[in-house]
Amino acid sequence: MGSLQTHKPVLLNEAIDALNIKPDGIYIDCTYGRGGHSEAILEKLGPAGKLIAIDKDPEAIKAAEETFKEDKRFTIVHDSYAHVDKLAEVKNVIGKVDGILIDSGVSSPQLDEAQRGFSFLQSGPLDMRMDPTQGESAASWIEHVKEEELVTVLKTYGEERFAKRIANFIVKARDDAPITDTKQLAEIITKANPKWERHKHPATRSFQAIRIFINSELDDLQACLENSIDVLAKNGRLAVISFHSLEDRIVKQFIRKEVRGKVFPVGLPVKADEMQGRLRSVGKAIKPSEEEIAHNPRARSAVLRVAEKLS
Ligand code: SAH
Repeated sequence: MGSLQTHKPVLLNEAIDALNIKPDGIYIDCTYGRGGHSEAILEKLGPAGKLIAIDKDPEAIKAAEETFKEDKRFTIVHDSYAHVDKLAEVKNVIGKVDGILIDSGVSSPQLDEAQRGFSFLQSGPLDMRMDPTQGESAASWIEHVKEEELVTVLKTYGEERFAKRIANFIVKARDDAPITDTKQLAEIITKANPKWERHKHPATRSFQAIRIFINSELDDLQACLENSIDVLAKNGRLAVISFHSLEDRIVKQFIRKEVRGKVFPVGLPVKADEMQGRLRSVGKAIKPSEEEIAHNPRARSAVLRVAEKLS
């Protein structure tokens, strides 16, 4: 690996194998992060290959520009991967892409730099946006969100059992003073949480929930999956690494739906090719080895699923 590792790439070899890289192929890395997967893809590409990388985060874009500015095979785009089809259209690669990689979630620099506002361990501005140039920060959302909506977000995206109690503590606290700091929010949640899980900070689930909501992570993932099929060439690979059960469920159900194909009412005459799905599932879900988890605890919950476009 090269010099860029402020984020340790997860399931690196497995993801590269899954993409089945052809030296002259065209690939899209939907989540550049700090370029761990991009670098490995470029290593496998010959001079005629191409890699388009995407990231929402301006810091990731800056890192990509610095690292690969000399590499003519590489382009970086600042956007959400939900728009992968639009980007592919602009780059004139619809139906020509040999592999699309999604390595969802947050990067280590996002989590570790207190200024980004994702960390419940350090004090920093309560932001949590992957792209701070768009949308609303967590602080501003928490300032006006209705208590019931907060309960729903904590329950749905954090699977937090104590969503009601935590939302109530947050709303009471914000009436006393605005909640603008990550540590301040973590402390309110810690006080509200009556039963701490082992090896888990009591604010973990709530922070995950707010982060997923603020960045519309699940909607973007669903949109990216749906939009990626037309972008892929025949036999093109889709490789998706997810980090929690909510994401993995979306990926699993999407692949299942596309493998099965359209469901027609019984008795309706349909041609065989109309019934065929657009994807074939490749292998089983892949999880990191014990060794990887020992070196990189953030790989702990990762799951890689792979599919191939049929025609
Ligand atoms: N594979 C990368 C790490 C990716 S971390 C590496 O090895 O370095 C996940 C990255 O995805 C983050 O940089 C985050 O900003 C980005 N991201 C998350 N959701 C996104 C979305 N909807 N569109 C574009 N980028 C997104």
